[in-house]
Amino acid sequence: MKVLVLGGTAEARALAAALLAVEMDVVSSLAGRVSNPTLPPGPVRVGGFGGVAGLVAYLRAEPVDAVVDATHPFAAQMSGNAAAACASGGVPLVRLARPGWGAHADAANWTWVRDTAGVLAAGASCRRPCLTTGRQTLAEFLPWAERPVLARVVDPPAFALPAAWRLLTSRGPYEVAGERRILADHGADLLVTKDSGGAHTEAKLAAARELGVPVVVIARPDPPAGVATVSDVPSVMIWLATMGGRRS
Ligand code: NAP
Repeated sequence: MKVLVLGGTAEARALAAALLAVEMDVVSSLAGRVSNPTLPPGPVRVGGFGGVAGLVAYLRAEPVDAVVDATHPFAAQMSGNAAAACASGGVPLVRLARPGWGAHADAANWTWVRDTAGVLAAGASCRRPCLTTGRQTLAEFLPWAERPVLARVVDPPAFALPAAWRLLTSRGPYEVAGERRILADHGADLLVTKDSGGAHTEAKLAAARELGVPVVVIARPDPPAGVATVSDVPSVMIWLATMGGRRS
């Protein structure tokens, strides 16, 4: 059985390793967005497929027997394309999505918003925000161009940052002590994050609580309808085993 893992996450890398360990035929796919990405083990392809039609053609050409959408919870375009392409090509699809931070002990103290507009409204009176929402949506925060924004990203954005902004390039995982230092050094009075979930970038939330820094969380986009979702690698393995049983 050939499995395509749509990746770009730690979970996708762990899944590729688990599939290889049971000698499954696996190919991991990365968007090619970041320079020097952490690669999963095993075969990797890089770059977009060319929309739904391109993915349908890829699934047929390989051919692929099953797809695991293990992309980041905010990679909504890719997840939607995978749902449409698999439905069209009759290829089984499961979504692997780590749980969000909704059950975090501090979640009730955070301000939850749907998008950047929600952040701008919720943080209207903040003076020294710290943005950890990624490079792709950074330009949406330009209404805050006059404020001393600290923006942490993996790779620098393509546009010139306002003079008042400071860019911090780094890649998780992070620890609480370092996160506390970053927020304190900046004198942050707001931390902005996506509901990425998982442990890699969770430490900033504890650091914010310790320093009394308010947190604004952008909620996850809705997942594509009708796609089975699991939250860990063992559940994907069970899903694939069930599928293998059905096929034989
Ligand atoms: P997106 O907006 O949902 O996808 C935009 C386009 O990028 C897709 O239509 C597809 O191009 C291509 N693409 C995305 N993921 C791909 C993959 N795994 N393999 C091949 N092509 C892919 O995606 P995004 O939010 O830019 O995320 C890009 C990648 O970064 C994903 O792999 C995701 O897991 C990872 N990532 C995203 C975030 C985030 O916050 N969004 C955070 C961490 C990691 P075509 O239409 O041409 O096929």
